[in-house]
Amino acid sequence: MPRPISARIHPDAVRHNLQLVKRTARSSRAWAVIKANAYGHGIERIYPALADADGIALLDLDEAVRVRELGWTKPVLLLEGIFEPEDVETAERHRLTVTVHCDDQLALLKAAKPRARIDIQLKMNSGMNRLGYRPGEFEAAWERASGIEAVSSIGLMSHFANADDGAIDWQIDEFDAATRNLPGTRSLSNSAAVLWHPRAHRDWVRPGTILYGASPTGCARHIEGFPLRAAMTLESRIIGVQTLEAGETIGYGRTFKADRAMRIGVVACGYADGYPRHAPTGTPVIVDGVRTRIVGRVSMDMLTVDLTPCPAAGIGAPVELWGERVRVDEVAEPSGTIGYELMCALARRVPVSIDSVVPRKEEAPSA
Ligand SMILES: *Cc1c(COP(=O)(O)O)cnc(C)c1O
Repeated sequence: MPRPISARIHPDAVRHNLQLVKRTARSSRAWAVIKANAYGHGIERIYPALADADGIALLDLDEAVRVRELGWTKPVLLLEGIFEPEDVETAERHRLTVTVHCDDQLALLKAAKPRARIDIQLKMNSGMNRLGYRPGEFEAAWERASGIEAVSSIGLMSHFANADDGAIDWQIDEFDAATRNLPGTRSLSNSAAVLWHPRAHRDWVRPGTILYGASPTGCARHIEGFPLRAAMTLESRIIGVQTLEAGETIGYGRTFKADRAMRIGVVACGYADGYPRHAPTGTPVIVDGVRTRIVGRVSMDMLTVDLTPCPAAGIGAPVELWGERVRVDEVAEPSGTIGYELMCALARRVPVSIDSVVPRKEEAPSA
């Protein structure tokens, strides 16, 4: 028997969240962002839930090829574009749309003699200062791109630095001013802009983290108004119980000291499974269906929980570390990180299962 820890992936939750995106940005098409192996969920595992997406966006050429091999015929966008001359051929063969954020990438396209032409998304650095042409350089870059034989259509994109905490109008204004004279589809919005900035929706949105039910801000409270469903549940069991007397401590560093007699449950889950070591005493956890808290330091293979609110829970009691009842953000935030990182960092040693996908009503044969 393996240790009693496992992750369950819920493709139906992804499908539900994608529908929510489509209802929120009604007149936009949606690139489903599935980079980093679908934010740790596994591309193949959630693929059946993506049928209603208009395109798939990711970074790795290998992942793009995997998506084509799964049978995806709609657009596939490489969010960082291509890196080497041979990537042009891969992009051509698999009909990949490539982001172009600098002249080195234009040079790769110019040097290549593809048989088919390639759709590109020309990227503007509107203030993020990571990838892209500055607004003042953008129109000239567009001219150069449109003169390249290998280039088919040119979409225009940019990325927000702080759509999660408020003001993005300055970046939209930069983008709009610099693209005023240019044709092509526009794409600006990550998850945060999908939820909170309708002005940024445009032709294509690019939601990532909300497809998996996590908060773009890293704070669970901020998505309370949106019925997003968690796409991953990390669960385990109690494998040991200790009864402490007042004044006794638990775990490495003795960081938690009981102020009264209390029962402690030992859970088979530690930082080697992907649970954050920085999760402090008080981080929420569900034991036997009851919300309680972790206490003491998280170790490599175990963590400890307060059994006071669930006196009947003993060895074998089920534990939800994150999922539908404890949002991954509720674990991430007190640990000084965001749900994105925890989902991506699920450890390889954790066995993963997949909920079966319930056919949608529309798919049922009509009477
Ligand atoms: C990752 C990424 C996204 C999705 O971001 P979320 O915050 O997860 O929605 C969108 N656009 C680009 C360019 C990205 O790299």
